Amino acid sequence: MSKRSLKDGETLQRPVKESKKHWSLGLVESMKDPDAVYKETERIVVIRDKYPKARVHYLVLPTKEISSIYKLDKTHLDLITEFGTMFQTIKNELTDVDLRAGFHAVPSMQRLHMHIISKDMDSKCLKTKIHWNSFTTSFFIPYEDLLRKLKENGCIERISSDMHKGLISTPLKCNQCSFEPKNIPQLKQHLLTHL
Ligand code: AMP
Ligand code: ZN
Repeated sequence: MSKRSLKDGETLQRPVKESKKHWSLGLVESMKDPDAVYKETERIVVIRDKYPKARVHYLVLPTKEISSIYKLDKTHLDLITEFGTMFQTIKNELTDVDLRAGFHAVPSMQRLHMHIISKDMDSKCLKTKIHWNSFTTSFFIPYEDLLRKLKENGCIERISSDMHKGLISTPLKCNQCSFEPKNIPQLKQHLLTHL
């Protein structure tokens, strides 16, 4: 077989395989994706949640590495205050939706992130009781509560694993009335009545 010469830019090296990032770093990756970024300032980035659990669902993250709420101390009060200002800005822009801001007590993804989520919880990505309870029980720490705890204690305390299990397995209850659905399909059907 005759040898041919290499074309411009062609090499004999095999392409270097990109190392696959751990799934829990997905938010940090999305922060670099212009399609995912909704707003940014020098210190914070707002991204669209990739698997939104409501009609409006954003995540607010610091540009600097802070792995979770458990790494916060009083030096972060300015940053967390800026999270609140960003929430207010988004609320002022989306006046026709009822928005809440808060943090999961036990986050699954790395990099501190605050959820901004609309009350409708109308989304095909909302599939499980864990999804539901993570936004509708005290597993969801409202922004104001986190800010107050940080001011008072200078840190955020971890919840116990028993508390975690208890919150996540709380019986389903509508977040807009007293209805107690038997299962997720019934809950989703019911949520439509509140739209
Ligand atoms: P948490 O339980 O507080 O860690 O929530 C993580 C959130 O990140 C969830 O609402 C997910 O839907 C969302 N999410 C997961 N992966 C990505 C990604 N690659 N980009 C944007 N949002 C993501
Ligand atoms: Zn209801």
